[in-house]
Amino acid sequence: PAPNDTTSRLPAIEARRVTKIFGDGDEAFQALDAVSLNIRENEFFTLLGPSGCGKTTLLRLIAGFEQPSAGHILLEGKNISNLPPYKRPVNTVFQSYALFPHLSVAQNIAFGLQRLGKPKAEVAGTVDAMLRLVKMEHLKDRRTANISGGQQQRVALARALAPRPKVLLLDEPLSALDLKLRKEMQIELKRLQGETGITFIFVTHDQEEALTMSDRIAVMSEGRVLQVGGPREIYDRPANRFVASFIGDTNFLPAQVLSTTGPRPRLSVCGVEMSTALPEGVTGPALTMALRPEQLRLEAPGAAGALQGVLKDTVYFGTDTHFHIALTDGTPLIARVQNARTAEHAFRVGEPVGARPQADALQALRD
Ligand code: ATP
Repeated sequence: PAPNDTTSRLPAIEARRVTKIFGDGDEAFQALDAVSLNIRENEFFTLLGPSGCGKTTLLRLIAGFEQPSAGHILLEGKNISNLPPYKRPVNTVFQSYALFPHLSVAQNIAFGLQRLGKPKAEVAGTVDAMLRLVKMEHLKDRRTANISGGQQQRVALARALAPRPKVLLLDEPLSALDLKLRKEMQIELKRLQGETGITFIFVTHDQEEALTMSDRIAVMSEGRVLQVGGPREIYDRPANRFVASFIGDTNFLPAQVLSTTGPRPRLSVCGVEMSTALPEGVTGPALTMALRPEQLRLEAPGAAGALQGVLKDTVYFGTDTHFHIALTDGTPLIARVQNARTAEHAFRVGEPVGARPQADALQALRD
């Protein structure tokens, strides 16, 4: 299996039809709507979705800071819905870090262990191991008020990992860092997850962060989970329009099913006949197809099986160039071409152009 194939692993956290309603009467608001998820042992699992979709609420239910209105949370197969937070082998890293500013780095890391009543020697040993793990040995006696944001982030992680929770919850932990530091910490977090073997449940609204870090991603919208899958699966096979547009850039093309006899259905996509596999349950007759801008090749106009249109604009982005095309039926299309020097010479604004989707690049969407 692939290195990040986690299918054979046991479930760490399960959500079974978890619903959360805040308030009541006219004020009632449903933040989660019958969410079911299966998060595996030793997995880097990400909850991804726009602001307000319920990511933090789900995390708080797993931590035990909130109770579900309906449904259950299970840890390693046991229902923990009624366990208070401190009895769950689950820790949280908050966006704000929540460190004690007057305590040293080492004292912050030791804090939770001391509260658990661990013997002194064990606490000291674990603190040293954690300092090494997050590469903060040299600052162990410095007060956390006097270290940088990135360093505070490391201390917060070390403190949360020190009692060896089964599950670590991370609520947008990188959002306070600048871009360069954020990229570094993405790699660092991934390493920490791999080295500790602890299940990480990571919340973000940043699709790139989710794609680069996760074993699997749950895409959420309006209190529901729309799709769960590996980064490539989510990107290449978005289940519906929301997922396709939230993750990466996508062209949406209207299509009609012409015939479903034979191994591959025949479609008319923006007036061009093509054949493509359709996901189960997607039948048409009218469909929307998703097509990633980088999965197109520009070619001379008129060839069979290629989309046809007129080049409207080219926009240079450094590593790639975006070709804006108006297809014959009026649908806008963007093709993204890497090292586009040749293409920029071959295709001129205002002239006809063909654009050929790569094999299996067209994805029929459920709405
Ligand atoms: P963000 O990325 O902005 O944190 P989110 O996806 O984490 O968003 P949640 O914080 O889970 O979203 O909130 C989901 C919805 O539930 C929001 O509309 C929010 O206003 C609402 N909500 C959350 N907590 C409460 C509460 N205690 N009382 C009432 N409504 C709440």
